[in-house]
Amino acid sequence: MSVKLKCSLLFIYSLLIISFAACTSDHKQASEEELRKQAQELAQKYIITDGHIDVPYRLNAKMEDVSVRTQQGEFDYVRARAGGLDAPFMSIYVDAVYQAKGGAKAAADSLIDLVENIAKKSPDKFALAYSVADVEKNTQAGKISLPMGMENGAPIESKIENVDHFYKRGIRYITLAHSKDNFICDSATDTTHTWNGVSPLGEQIIGRMNQVGIMVDVSHISDSSFYDVMRLTKAPVIASHSSCRHFTPDQTRNMTDDMIRKLAANKGVIQICFGTYFLNNESIKNDNYIKKWLKENNIQRTDSTAVAYIKQFNEAHTVTSDISQVADHIDHVVKLVGIEYVGIGSDFDGVEGKLAKGLEDVSKYPNLIYELLKRGYSEEDIRKICYTNVFRVWSEVERIAKEQGTSKVGS
Ligand SMILES: [Zn+2]
Repeated sequence: MSVKLKCSLLFIYSLLIISFAACTSDHKQASEEELRKQAQELAQKYIITDGHIDVPYRLNAKMEDVSVRTQQGEFDYVRARAGGLDAPFMSIYVDAVYQAKGGAKAAADSLIDLVENIAKKSPDKFALAYSVADVEKNTQAGKISLPMGMENGAPIESKIENVDHFYKRGIRYITLAHSKDNFICDSATDTTHTWNGVSPLGEQIIGRMNQVGIMVDVSHISDSSFYDVMRLTKAPVIASHSSCRHFTPDQTRNMTDDMIRKLAANKGVIQICFGTYFLNNESIKNDNYIKKWLKENNIQRTDSTAVAYIKQFNEAHTVTSDISQVADHIDHVVKLVGIEYVGIGSDFDGVEGKLAKGLEDVSKYPNLIYELLKRGYSEEDIRKICYTNVFRVWSEVERIAKEQGTSKVGS
C-alpha cells in the first residue's frame, strides 16, 4: 500500500471516528434533553406528595402571601405549580420548649388556623385535604392540597381525647416526639432515654391514633421508640422526613438498615429529606462539634458570642450536598427493601436553606425525577415514589380506622 493511500485511508478513518463521536455526543445530548422533558411531564402528570414542609413555621415567624411568588422561603403557589407539587403535608411544628412551659395545644391550634387561612384566602389555588380522596378531588379541580401533619405529640398534652381533637381539626399524621423526649416516647436527639422507648401513655395514644385514622410518624423518635412503635401499631406507619443512616452514621435522626427493613415489613414508607444535615455525615459531625462547644462553654446557641462563633465555624467548614446524594438515599432504600417503601419528605422551609444543590425549592422536583430516570427508574417506579406509596399507607390507615368503627370526618 502506498504512503499516499495509507494517508488517505487514515484520513477517512479519522473522519469516521470524528463523525461517530459527534453523533454519539449529539445522541447523548438529545437523550438528556428528552429525559429532562420526560421528567417535567411526569412531574405534572403524577400527583406529587411531600411528607414534610415547614410553611406554617416560616409564616408564623414572618407572614407572606404564598398564593403568589414570594421573595423568601422555599414554597409558594407559583413555584409549587412549576415543580408539579400537589400535596405538601403542612407541618404543624410545635417546639419541645412548650413541653416545659406549657401552651403546646394552643400553639398547634393557632398553626392549624394559619393553614386554614391560606386555603380560605385563595380557594381557587389551595384546598385543605383530610383524605386520599380529598387530594385526588382537589388535584382534579386544579388546586394544591394542604394536608396537615403535627410535628411533636406535645400538643396532645397527656389527654387521649386530644388525639380526637386534632383528628377533627384535620391532622392526619403525628410525629410522636421532636428534639426532646416527651410523655409519649423518647427522641432520637435526646440522650436522657426517659422511657427507653414508648411510655405507657404513648402506647394508648398510638392505639387511639390507629382507631381514629391518624398516621404514626416515626421521624425524630429514638431507635428504641421506633421498635416499640413497630410492636404496637395496628397500621402501617410513615417516616415523614428521614433519610438513611447507612450514609450518615452520626445522624441519629436517620434510619438504620434494620429499621428500614422493619418499616417495609410494616408496609410503611420512608420519605427522603433534601437537607444537607440528613445527606452528608460531615454536616452532622460539625453540628455535634458545635453542640459540644456550647455545652463546654455553658452558653446558649442564641447567645451573641455563640452566634458569632457558629458563623465563623460554619464559614470555615462549609458542607454541601447535591441531588445525586438524595438519589443515592432513594437507591439505598430500593436496593434494601424495594421500590414500594420510599417517598419524598423534603423538609423545605425547615432547614435554614441548607439543601441539596438542584433541590433548592418546590419548583425543583423535576430535577429529582430526571436524576431517577437517568439511573434507570421506570415511570411506574417514579409514580410510586411521587405518591402511590404514601397513598397506600394513608388509605390503609383510613381503612383500619373505619374497620374499628371509630373514624370521624374532619371538620
Ligand atoms: Zn423535623
